[in-house]
Amino acid sequence: MGAPSSFVPDSIHFVVGLDTQVQYVKGIGPQIAQTLAAKGISTVEDLLYHLPFRYEDRLHPMPLSELKPGEMASVIGEVRGTVLLRTRSIPIFEMTVGQGISSLKCMWFHGTYLKDKFKHGQMLAVYGKVEASRSGRGYKMIQPQVEILSADEDESELLEVGRIVPVYESLGGNKLTTRWLRRIVYNLLEELDGHLPETLPRALVERLSLPGRAEALRGVHFPPPGTPMTQLQASGTLAHRRLIFEELFYLEMGLELKRRRFKERAGIAFETAKKVREAIREILPFHPTTAQKNALAEIVADMRRPSPMRRLLQGDVGSGKTIVALQAMLVAIENGYQAALMAPTEILATQHYLAARKLLERSSKPYRIVLLTGSLDADVKKLNRSKIYQGEADVVIGTHALIEEKVEFDKLGLIVVDEQHRFGVLQRFRLMKKPTDAEPDVLVMTATPIPRTLALSLYGDLDLSVLDELPPGRTPIVTRKVSDERADEVWKFVREQVGRGHQAYVVYPVIEGAKDDQPELDFAPPDPEEEPKPKKSAKKTKTAALFEKPSLKAATDMYEALRTGALSGLRLGLLHGRLDSDEKEIVMRRFQRGEIDVLISTTVIEVGVDVPNATVMVIEHAERFGLAQLHQLRGRVGRGAAKSYCILMTGGRVSEQGEERLGAMVRTQNGFELAELDLQLRGPGEFFGTRQAGLPDFRVANLVRDRDLLELAKAEAARFVEKPEGTEDEKKLVRTRLREAWQRRYGLVEAG
Ligand code: ADP
Ligand code: MG
Repeated sequence: MGAPSSFVPDSIHFVVGLDTQVQYVKGIGPQIAQTLAAKGISTVEDLLYHLPFRYEDRLHPMPLSELKPGEMASVIGEVRGTVLLRTRSIPIFEMTVGQGISSLKCMWFHGTYLKDKFKHGQMLAVYGKVEASRSGRGYKMIQPQVEILSADEDESELLEVGRIVPVYESLGGNKLTTRWLRRIVYNLLEELDGHLPETLPRALVERLSLPGRAEALRGVHFPPPGTPMTQLQASGTLAHRRLIFEELFYLEMGLELKRRRFKERAGIAFETAKKVREAIREILPFHPTTAQKNALAEIVADMRRPSPMRRLLQGDVGSGKTIVALQAMLVAIENGYQAALMAPTEILATQHYLAARKLLERSSKPYRIVLLTGSLDADVKKLNRSKIYQGEADVVIGTHALIEEKVEFDKLGLIVVDEQHRFGVLQRFRLMKKPTDAEPDVLVMTATPIPRTLALSLYGDLDLSVLDELPPGRTPIVTRKVSDERADEVWKFVREQVGRGHQAYVVYPVIEGAKDDQPELDFAPPDPEEEPKPKKSAKKTKTAALFEKPSLKAATDMYEALRTGALSGLRLGLLHGRLDSDEKEIVMRRFQRGEIDVLISTTVIEVGVDVPNATVMVIEHAERFGLAQLHQLRGRVGRGAAKSYCILMTGGRVSEQGEERLGAMVRTQNGFELAELDLQLRGPGEFFGTRQAGLPDFRVANLVRDRDLLELAKAEAARFVEKPEGTEDEKKLVRTRLREAWQRRYGLVEAG
């Protein structure tokens, strides 16, 4: 950007290239260019990659006689009459669109703005859902999309009728419409004809039977006659697939290179002699599952290599990741290095610390283990930091404090990051260490059952191990959905379970009730469906929506209510994010020791908490929680041998999506299945918590829709990096393109 503009007279004709700034394109001046820039479009290439979001078959437009109610249809006809009705409370604009002797009624609510837009006899294309009209004769469309066809028949014939036409999202106001774009893009493609450079090696494109880039771009904007409409609407034509593949190929290639470059750095080649293996076996309290054995084998194989490990250990809640991590940590320690485990919350760090201490006590060796969290007393922290620095601690367990307080290690060999999704990708490897040549190994653990293909693209620079098996002896969790009108029965059930010596969780979406003017939430995803329409209500922020919904039951209120009411006589505890960490820890420990029967909580207990004696998870306002969260919460029970229950209580109206989520929870306990559904329901951006997760901003690809291409792109990228295919010029081009793609599109993750 920033190119000189004003002194290029319009009359000078110069050759348009893909990197030409849009303001020099015929039909676009500096002013429109500014509007486009706001949409992220600054070059001709950007414009060409603004793909149609749907298509209309105007080669075979529907005769009005063939319309079927309930179906979407595209109709071409002429304006026969318009009227603005003000009979009811809202103005309705009605238009009759005619075709021979038939006609179709179109209606727009609040349609005053359309009053003077149409002329009698003008040709139109309308697109919308066909409905039977009230009289029973003929059809109508409510709020159809409408396009006035050009009065210039030549042009109209070229671009607007007699072909499959692309429909674009407007790029601004009623000027940069789909029709405008169609013309601009058409002209550009004409002008660039023969000058659209290929961006993939020809051999690769041919091997995959994909069209060349020029053909693909033309094909997505102006599909040749006969292209199946269903394929087009699903972005599934070869032309689409070619462009999607290209985008994913460059993403994956960047990740692959990054991974390789990293591997070239010097790491630590740990030894796993007999004494190391024995040390590991000594601490094992149970037989590991096959999945745990395999994962550990993969991890240890990495650790033995002289290049640094970057591995993601993925396993559903309760699959037993902790013990795998501890075993890996022992390998490091037995080699004379320090190992660190970083957890996302103090509760979890403390829990890991206690568990690790218990396990390591099983060993005949005096391992030295240290906890480091933000809330420790300053002098304890200072002492622990110096122990870490002096090499007087073998195992260090902590929170963010490990990063934030610039803890320096004496000889750090392995870093384990637990429940990684809470950290954000960028923070991953910033642990401090004394300057040495060797990079410590890193093991990242996550319980978010990211579908494999997505894991590949998001963490493509990590290797992946999966725990796809639960430890034996677990009985399936019984999941039920009930309205909170039946709360009495639920509390009775909780009492019964406590009577049998078990414990229960009761989870609420908010900490405090409506009286609190600052309802600080432990989580806050209002159901988007409960707002009228996300786009239109954008101004009404999420927070506002939450403030307006005072009817949610809150943990603190319910703690009081249950303590003195339905659960009186039981030992209740209260846990939420606003307690200070000492308090939290005390409550958690008491629950762990069985001194609390029922823990009333917010989602602070969501991740990782392990109390096998707890058999009941009651979630109030379950309709307000996301699937991933519900699954995590349910994962807190069913950890011991006793039968466990998850009760999803709903309060108030449940949206359709809410029903779908709860239905899925009742139906399956498989985290991967639930994650798939979650992804479908929410889309990747929401699923991962937007860009913070490092999710790149794609131009044409869609990670949910294009999984197969993602796999293909990954395989091909690896292949290309291993053994580049094509001529020298092509290879050079790929490298340049890669650099550009990474700098521009994936600014978050440097290509270096
Ligand atoms: P997560 O993968 O969710 O972090 P944990 O590591 O907390 O799971 O393990 C869940 C529970 O299962 C713990 O109580 C742990 O002791 C137990 N566990 C793990 N592996 C096994 C095994 N192979 N056999 C029996 N119990 C196991
Ligand atoms: Mg865990």
